[in-house]
This record gives sequence, structure tokens and C-alpha cells, in this order.
Amino acid sequence: MKEYVKTVPDYPIPGIQFRDITPLLQDSGLFSKVVDEMSNPWEHMVVDAVLSIEARGFIMAGAIAYKLGAAFIPLRKPDKLPGETFSVSFELEYGKTEMHIHKDALDRHERLLIIDDLLATGGTALAAVDLVEKFENKMLLGAGFIIDLPALGGAERLAERNIAIHTLMEF
Ligand code: AMP
Repeated sequence: MKEYVKTVPDYPIPGIQFRDITPLLQDSGLFSKVVDEMSNPWEHMVVDAVLSIEARGFIMAGAIAYKLGAAFIPLRKPDKLPGETFSVSFELEYGKTEMHIHKDALDRHERLLIIDDLLATGGTALAAVDLVEKFENKMLLGAGFIIDLPALGGAERLAERNIAIHTLMEF
């Protein structure tokens, strides 16, 4: 699968090696392999809801939720969710942004899994963890990604918070 991730130098800004997953997604066999392999480690557990990070996380998370028999909960950018939300602000390469979740999204869900496409510094995934911590009595089972960039330290930052992670490949 790794051969199907295209590295695009200096995109979207100079110095970034962008890992483009679209060649992986546009192959029907490999798309289902990605979904199967991202679902596998959690299949022996009861997962109530998959929390999916906008936007590329949505691509796999719906299919993973379906496979796990779990609900799908979007974690969204500002001004996307119409109801009352909890939010956290976090750092991106340029400036800050926010991640939101509907306050009632987890009313019937306790055992949660976070899904995104790629783990870099871990800032985005940790924002999702912080959002979960706004709720009482929730159990975060772990977080799954297609790609880990270990040099950027995200996996270590998640380990410091005792979050189990699963990734399909590293660059
Ligand atoms: P981070 O918060 O630093 O862990 O960055 C993770 C988020 O940024 C993910 O949602 C990715 O979609 C995106 N991202 C960060 N670095 C890259 C990269 N080199 N190639 C593709 N996407 C990236």
C-alpha cells in the first residue's frame, strides 16, 4: 500500500513533504484493504462510536464505523455544526483553528475510537482527545490513522496521554 501513497514535495507550502493518499483511495481493492486493516485491531472490542476528524478522516471513518457496527460522529471545523457544540482550539502550521462536536453527539455512546488519515505532530488528534474529555464517563479505546510520521512526534505525544494508536504505515 505504501507505494500508492504519493509524496509531493513542497506542497502546500515549501518544506512540506505532502503524503497524498488519493492514489490509494482510487484503487478499489486498496480502498477496501485500507478500511479492513484500519478496522481489524478494534473488531474484537465493542466500539460504540467512531469519531472522525474533518476532512480526510471522513473518507475512511464512515466505512470503518459500518464495519464495526458503530455510530459515526463528525469532529468539525468552526461554523459547520448547526447545534450546540463543545470546542477546543489548537495550533496548525499557520495560526489556530477549532474543532467542534455536538454536545449531544455522545449521549448514547461510551466506547469511542478516533480516526484520521495521518498523524504528524499529533496536534489535531490531541484536540480530538481534549474534546472527548469534555464529556463524562467516556472510554477512548484508541486512535487509528493510515500514516504515521514518527519524526514529528505525534505518536509519542499520544502515548504520553495513554492513547493506544494503530497505523498502517510510516514515512
Ligand atoms: P498534526 O496535527 O500535525 O498531527 O497533523 C495532522 C493533520 O494534518 C492530518 O489531519 C493530516 O491530514 C494533515 N497533515 C499534516 N502533515 C501532513 C503531510 N505531510 N501530508 C499530508 N497531510 C498532512
